Amino acid sequence: MGPPGSGKGTQAARIAERLGLPHISTGDILRGAVKAGTPLGQQVAGIMASGGLVGDGLITDLVRYRLEEADAARGFILDGYPRTAAQAEALDTMRPPESFVVALIQVPDDAIVRRMSSRRVCDSCGLTQSVSPDSNSNGETCPYCGGDLIVRPDDNPDTVRRRLATYAEAAMPLIKYYRTHPRYGEVNGLQHADRVTAALLAHIDRGSL
Ligand code: AMP
Repeated sequence: MGPPGSGKGTQAARIAERLGLPHISTGDILRGAVKAGTPLGQQVAGIMASGGLVGDGLITDLVRYRLEEADAARGFILDGYPRTAAQAEALDTMRPPESFVVALIQVPDDAIVRRMSSRRVCDSCGLTQSVSPDSNSNGETCPYCGGDLIVRPDDNPDTVRRRLATYAEAAMPLIKYYRTHPRYGEVNGLQHADRVTAALLAHIDRGSL
């Protein structure tokens, strides 16, 4: 868990690779559906563009089906789900609650707004990266695959503010839900990304921070 721009996606991808587990990002799944123009994509495009949340039922069905796939049997890294207390309750019906390790990456709002202005995503390989703050909005090239680095449509300042407000509203009950979980931990997301990864891995190893 963590606000938009806290590094959830970057950290989830790293940890999934390290542990050999699938990285399941609801945001990536939804963006894929929007890009492919599927009925799901058409249904959620407007909500995502406005910075709101997709309905709990729809996103929960999506995660439920995904967790039934063979690669999730040994474990998985969930990124962006659960985002509401209702989603957390639903997740607890899919696997035993005590089997989860829960982590919150904390980053204050002012740092998020700064980060988002230099965040780009590769149109080709989907990797998120940051460019120098004075860089033009689009037009740089992905150093990994040569694709175009673009601003995520929901990373413009107005939508970022709305996404932060959406997060603030849903996060309080969600964090309250997990605070008493035996394997809940909080990590300072302002640290260097490598330190955040190390802290998360240690948390997973120990089961608590
Ligand atoms: P993310 O990539 O995690 O920032 O997600 C991008 C957008 O997808 C969010 O702003 C929401 O509109 C939608 N979304 C992703 N995950 C969820 C979720 N668990 N519940 C509701 N909406 C979600």
